[in-house]
Amino acid sequence: MELFNRDGKEFTGTPEINEKGKPYTQVAITCDRCHVIGGRRLWIMGIENNRPYSKTGFDCWTCGNTGVRKMVDDRLYTAEELAKINATAQKRAAKRFEAEQAEAARKAAEQAVKEAAFLTSCSDFIATLSKLDGEFWDSFTESFLRRATAPTERQAAMVEAEVAKRAQNAASAFVGAVGDKIVLTITIERLIPLESQFGTTYINLCRDQQGNVIVYKGNSNIGDVGETVNVRATVKEHVLYNAASQTVIQRPKLV
Ligand SMILES: [Zn+2]
Repeated sequence: MELFNRDGKEFTGTPEINEKGKPYTQVAITCDRCHVIGGRRLWIMGIENNRPYSKTGFDCWTCGNTGVRKMVDDRLYTAEELAKINATAQKRAAKRFEAEQAEAARKAAEQAVKEAAFLTSCSDFIATLSKLDGEFWDSFTESFLRRATAPTERQAAMVEAEVAKRAQNAASAFVGAVGDKIVLTITIERLIPLESQFGTTYINLCRDQQGNVIVYKGNSNIGDVGETVNVRATVKEHVLYNAASQTVIQRPKLV
């Protein structure tokens, strides 16, 4: 009768019979700690250029220098038995695959529910984000949507501040006409230093009492951040910057 090992390889030889009356054969498990080098079996230290090397010249104590780590019984099967075993294994694999598919579907559904809940609970925040243009807010929005968790306090505060700033900018109007000499009551909101070969000058970002943005760039010190001052100045130009109408003044004098 033809016999095969578990992998389907045909067995040629005389099988042994175990106590249950089943045929088997003994196969050698090769020792992985030694190798024949230059005609002599040696314990190997490592592999170099895909070749085992032994600098010690020691025998292998793992296998007693036989090259065989151990002998194991290997069951042999008839073609019919093997077919049955393979069919069972296949069935088990199919079942496992099915279970994995079901689990993946369950996870996907769970994720979808989570995502829907996120979109609902954060719909106001997301709507606000969608109105904030610019590279920074685009990537902020993208990563927020990717993470799909409620905004942190810091994120919420950041967005709120940006919305307020934009509303303020949008409410800013031009003051006077270019060339006009005007008197303004302005609060200095920011000082941006500009280094040049002639020293440091400052861009003074200010706001008048109607919320209009007033900009002064030059050497005159008109005050510190947070200070409200009265100045007489000439309207140099009107510019639109970050959606804010800005009135640029020159030669300011404190009055
Ligand atoms: Zn060995």
